[in-house]
Amino acid sequence: MRAVIIEQPGNVALGTRSVPTLVDGAVLIRVRTVGFCGSDLNTFRGLNPLVSYPRVPGHEIAGVVEEVGEGVPREISTGAHVTVIPYTACGQCSACRRGRINTCRNNQTLGVQRDGALTERITLPWQSLLQGEGLDRRELALVEPLAVGFHAVARGRVAEGDVVAVIGTGAVGLGAVAGAVRARGTVIAVDVDDDKLTMARRAGATHVVNSRSGSLHDRLQELTRGDGPDVVIEAVGLPETFLAAVAEVAVAGRVVYIGYAKAPVSFDTTQFVRKELDILGARNATADDFRAVLTLLRGKGFPVADAVTRVVRMDEAADALRGWDADPAAVTRIHVDLD
Ligand SMILES: [Zn+2]
Ligand SMILES: [Zn+2]
Repeated sequence: MRAVIIEQPGNVALGTRSVPTLVDGAVLIRVRTVGFCGSDLNTFRGLNPLVSYPRVPGHEIAGVVEEVGEGVPREISTGAHVTVIPYTACGQCSACRRGRINTCRNNQTLGVQRDGALTERITLPWQSLLQGEGLDRRELALVEPLAVGFHAVARGRVAEGDVVAVIGTGAVGLGAVAGAVRARGTVIAVDVDDDKLTMARRAGATHVVNSRSGSLHDRLQELTRGDGPDVVIEAVGLPETFLAAVAEVAVAGRVVYIGYAKAPVSFDTTQFVRKELDILGARNATADDFRAVLTLLRGKGFPVADAVTRVVRMDEAADALRGWDADPAAVTRIHVDLD
C-alpha cells in the first residue's frame, strides 16, 4: 500500500509499506484524511528530537473501520467513521499511576515515536477509536489539534468569569479559544495575522489583538482594566511569547504552555513569586478532551472550513509539506485526502 515517508530530514516522498495485520483487540482502519501537524513539519525539518527515520508522519485522522479483530466490543462495527487518539500509555510509569496518562513517560504518538497515519491502512487497539457519526472527514481530522487546545484550558482550570488570553491562533490555539469559551471564559485572542484573528473570532473570541500592529501590553491592560488576564495560554513556542505570558498574566493568575519552545528561554523568576503564579505545561490531550471537541463539532460551533487552509491528494502530500516548510505562516491546516 502507498505511504508518505519522511526518509531523512528534508526528504519526503510517496513510498510503500506492507498492509498491517489485524491482531486480537485491534481494528483495521482505512484512512480517509490526515491533517499535517506542526510536529510533522518539525520531523521534516529534523527538529523533532523524539523522531527516528524513516518515519511515516500523521496523527490527525479521519478513517473508516474496515475490519474488526477478535475481542473488540460490538459498538465498533465495519463502516463506522472514526477519529483516533494517537497516543499510548504504558499504565506503569509514575504519570500513568497518577492517572495522567496523556503525559505517559513511554508515550508513543503516531507519526512521532512510531509510524503514523499517512498510509492507506493502519491498525490500532479498539480503545484508541472515537466514534465520529454525524461528522465529516474535515471535522474528524481536526479533532486532535483542537483537543490539545481543550486540554490546555482544562489545565488552566478556566471557569466562568475568567478572562483568558490565548497567544497564537493556529489549530491548537483555536482549540484553546473554543475550549475557553465553552468553559464560560471571556477570550482575548492574540496573533500577528489578521486572517487567523478573524478565525479566532468565529471560534468565539470576544476580543482580538494583533500584537504586530500595536502594544500587546497596552491592549491587554485596556481590556482587563489594568489587571491582566486571569489565564494566559501560550500556543506559539517562541521565547518572546513564553516571556509575554508571564509578564502579562494577572497577579495570582495561571499560565499554560502548550507551545514547544525551539530554544532555551531565560525568565525573570521574581515574577513567578511576586505574582504567585501557577505555571503549567499541557501535553497532548485526554479522552475527555477529545469527547468535548466531538460535542463542539457536532454543535457546528467551530469554523472548520476556515481552519482547513488546503486539501491535497496523497500524491501531492510531499509537495504540500515542502510548500508548508517554505511558507509556514500561510497555513492553519493542510488536509491530505487518501480517497
Ligand atoms: Zn497534532
Ligand atoms: Zn506510562
